[in-house]
Amino acid sequence: MPKQNKCTRQSRDAIKKRWKQVEISNETLLLQDNELSDAEPSNIINKSHFDTFWIEGEETRFDSDEITQLLQELQPNVLKQLVENAKRSHAWVEKSRGPVYKGDAQSTLRNKKAYLRKAALGSKKITDMFPTSEVANDDPIFDDIYDSDNENDNEFTLKSLDLLLKKKKDDLRLRTVSQFLHLVQDQGFTKIDASNFLAQSLNKGPWHARLIRSWAIQWLNNGMIISSKCGCHAKIRSLLLNEDLKLQVNEYLRIHKFKLNVADFVKFVEDEVIPALGIEEKTSISYSTARKWLHILGWEYKDHSKNIYFDGHEREDVVADRHRFLEQWAELRKRMATYEGENLNQIILPILPHGVPEIVPVTHDESVFYANDDVVKAWGPADESRLRRKSQGLSIHVSDFLCESIGRLQLSEEDCATNNLLPDGERLVYTEACVTMYPGTNRDGWWTNKDVVKQVKERAIPIFEYTHPGKVALFMFDNSCNHNAFADDALMVSRMNMKDGGKQPLLRNGIMPDGSPHAMTFTDVNGVVKPKGIRRVLEERGLWIPGLKRKCHACTQHDPDPNKLDCCATRILSVQPDFASQKMHIQEVSCD
Ligand SMILES: [Zn+2]
Repeated sequence: MPKQNKCTRQSRDAIKKRWKQVEISNETLLLQDNELSDAEPSNIINKSHFDTFWIEGEETRFDSDEITQLLQELQPNVLKQLVENAKRSHAWVEKSRGPVYKGDAQSTLRNKKAYLRKAALGSKKITDMFPTSEVANDDPIFDDIYDSDNENDNEFTLKSLDLLLKKKKDDLRLRTVSQFLHLVQDQGFTKIDASNFLAQSLNKGPWHARLIRSWAIQWLNNGMIISSKCGCHAKIRSLLLNEDLKLQVNEYLRIHKFKLNVADFVKFVEDEVIPALGIEEKTSISYSTARKWLHILGWEYKDHSKNIYFDGHEREDVVADRHRFLEQWAELRKRMATYEGENLNQIILPILPHGVPEIVPVTHDESVFYANDDVVKAWGPADESRLRRKSQGLSIHVSDFLCESIGRLQLSEEDCATNNLLPDGERLVYTEACVTMYPGTNRDGWWTNKDVVKQVKERAIPIFEYTHPGKVALFMFDNSCNHNAFADDALMVSRMNMKDGGKQPLLRNGIMPDGSPHAMTFTDVNGVVKPKGIRRVLEERGLWIPGLKRKCHACTQHDPDPNKLDCCATRILSVQPDFASQKMHIQEVSCD
């Protein structure tokens, strides 16, 4: 016997345990039955009792004989009740779904039609807008054939039908309708009987009988019978049925697995397959045909990306932030130039009061390009997945600025030439704002907030000032955590300790409540400059309350009471104007 693994052993134990429970519950079940018959001889079935019966007995080793026996032991009227209940199937269904209203009651349809008529009142018909040409129709139209001088004869009757039938002897429908009308008018058949009789004579059923009646109505109302277009359409044999073609196509697909481009595939079929096989009826296939072929051959256009994307666009705080952004933007937009025309080369400058400079929006973005960057979606066999290389390979990081006025933020060739002639000190060091780097531990390191700040400071701002004299740049950065960083010496309570000194950064000067500068550092007895702690800063501002904690529980949970501004030392200091107005590093650099 093979060695049992853990899973099998556990299952066996579970089964044994279950059997034991079942045996106990059987005993209780029988007990309960006795109780029932003893205590309530004329009994009414107790629902909870049945629940016990079914739930506990469900997986036991009762066979049907045992159940029958048990049932026999019950009171006769209990059995009767059971049988009655079984007949009324709904008695067992507690949550059955009622019939669903489909909205097709006569009155509803009438109301709907009336509503539509009212809505369309006074509007033009669609045929007024599009000229309609008379539809050429092969259907037997009475007017074409039956020439009568007397207009009163121009009725679509049995007589006229028979006249028409003399000219169109082979028309099966006309003949059937004629027979139908003869049966009704001459033989006294009801319409239903006549149509059924005719349908049966053609070995057809009730549906065909109904069809005959509808033909007769068509004839009597319109003098024509609309014929089915079934079988009238051109039959096209798919090229794919050609085995040689299929072979060639499959071979091509195998080679181009996951690199397949529908346009190339169509070109291959046009240039190679069709001429090679000498197919004459077709010279090309459409893109949609190509896609259909791919599906028929079992290929799918599939996503190989493993990325998960969460859409947070409608989150409450995001929506609020978007509103704030749009309001700000609408205000600043008035000070920006607009670009119109097909090539956006008509510049409409804003009309501004004297001394108010024009604003030029400058957008920034970063992107990383990997050596193994690939098409994410590709055509491939339905049952195969593409093996993606685990590593994306070496990468290049590009960070650049764009503006409407000059495109990429850089000096033009002319400007470069002029710049080169300038003496040292006046000459721009960088002529383009774009920075590319090769991220990696043994390469250029990693792109951080400091790099962005450096790029803004050393490249973007000087180049903007060179290319847009007298204008103000509105730098726009996306919400990357890299851009949300603060300067090393920023006034951030979270970076401070309660006590002086220790491992905390040396912060820049703050502002005292009276407006004078407030140093965040002190020099100790040994002449070493050390950072002040939160307590000392608060004491110097006269805000210290004895017994204050560094940070209270609510503040730790990022859920402070908005009305209680002195819950802890951190809170008191962080709402001080100089700390509260601390901007992010990138903002500080851009605004200077
Ligand atoms: Zn607090």
